[in-house]
Amino acid sequence: MLTSGDAILQVAHENSFAVPAFNISDWNMCRGIVEISEEKNAPLLIAIHPDELSHTTDALMPAIRELAHRASVPVAIHFDHGATVDQMVWAVQSGFTSVMLDGSMLPFDENVALTKAAVDIAHAVGLSVEGELGTIGKTDAEAEDGAAEIIYTVPEDAVRFIELTGVDSLAIAIGTSHGIYPSWMKPELKLDLLKEIKAAVNIPLVLHGGSNNPDSEIGEAATLGVNKINISSDIKVAYHTKMREVMADASLREPNTIQPPAIEAMKVEAAHKIDLFGAAGKASLF
Ligand SMILES: [Zn+2]
Repeated sequence: MLTSGDAILQVAHENSFAVPAFNISDWNMCRGIVEISEEKNAPLLIAIHPDELSHTTDALMPAIRELAHRASVPVAIHFDHGATVDQMVWAVQSGFTSVMLDGSMLPFDENVALTKAAVDIAHAVGLSVEGELGTIGKTDAEAEDGAAEIIYTVPEDAVRFIELTGVDSLAIAIGTSHGIYPSWMKPELKLDLLKEIKAAVNIPLVLHGGSNNPDSEIGEAATLGVNKINISSDIKVAYHTKMREVMADASLREPNTIQPPAIEAMKVEAAHKIDLFGAAGKASLF
């Protein structure tokens, strides 16, 4: 069923697991992600970044909402990395049930002001807002934005930020980056910092750039207070790697022949994340 982001994250927060937010950029990815969440009986956030929405167009939103309505598990449709008040209004009008305002690259006071404006708009229509404090990295040209260097979230700042803005969940920087890490770079999460932040703020926490990190660290983060983990690169790599393999056969033409194996490969990767985050079976908590 179509659900608000807040309703899903509160259950994850109370039960110490993380809900995957899978970024989708086309209808097939969207269908596959809903299917695997149903097979795993796991709650789901379908995440769509403004760049992805400009590709799918917002005309696809009614179909995504219908798909969520028909799903046997709770599904929220999340606007990922909104950057302006105008985009917040657009997201609300388009039918998202959860929004993010990312002011993390701004000075603290400007981030507070912009996030507070987003909260005022979203709360007025009963939607929750994810803010971001600290900046995560960016590892490759195709990745979403990030800083050249990670600025770790300071627990006291997080407390102040939540008080001043009224955000419902907070994305934090504890060592991840958007994209796929180059071979020389070994990501390492500061799990002690995560524990400190969680103890100080007591709201759902969010990890961006969850792709391509060691499973053990991500799994532990999900038990220590991270309640939403964004996965974009890993499922897209699985989807398109399989598609390239299938398309090596130049005689194939029909999307219905080419795309299903790619969807299946993406579902295998997504299932692994759902298990890793402790989200499998958790739809029964709703
Ligand atoms: Zn992100």
